[in-house]
Amino acid sequence: MHHDLLRDGRFWSFLLSIDQDLVKNAREKGCTCNGRLHAAHYPRKPRGGPQDLPKACCYRLSLCCDREGCRKRVTPPSTRFLGRKVYLLGVIFLAAAMRQGPSPRSMRELGDLFDADRRTIARWQVFWREHFPPTRFWKIARARFARAIDVATLPRALQEAFFLSRDPRGEWEQLLRFLSPISLPGGLAIDLCR
Ligand SMILES: [Zn+2]
Repeated sequence: MHHDLLRDGRFWSFLLSIDQDLVKNAREKGCTCNGRLHAAHYPRKPRGGPQDLPKACCYRLSLCCDREGCRKRVTPPSTRFLGRKVYLLGVIFLAAAMRQGPSPRSMRELGDLFDADRRTIARWQVFWREHFPPTRFWKIARARFARAIDVATLPRALQEAFFLSRDPRGEWEQLLRFLSPISLPGGLAIDLCR
């Protein structure tokens, strides 16, 4: 099941390896000043994952230019973190999705599953329903779905589009890669012109 994977340290190591690939791509491009980018990761204390979350997973991967006078930060997209939020992206997604549909899970059950209180889970629901739809990301990304998605059904509509229960790990990977641009600073920017 998809939520079991969120409790599995190996799954987070797998997502870390995807984030490491995203960092590698950014590093190969280098800085706009032609300087070299070196690792300058941000330590984090992520919540909602397994108790035994590997230590290596507790960093938001980021790079910094090594050239004096530039020192520009380059932070690639992440499949694990959502901006500065403490909880892991997959948790923020799935807990909100499990509150929807014909048999929504109780706040208590989700709170136990993801180590979150009721107000936090309620905020995630508001995030997907109200903050996510007007973003530039969603206005472009929604076009990839064959059928129009009613924003009132977010994020469950995305769960239904990606989770077909054939290969939970691969399906998580596709979903989180899809969502990864919103992990960037400015990734949740709202486009007022459209
Ligand atoms: Zn530079």
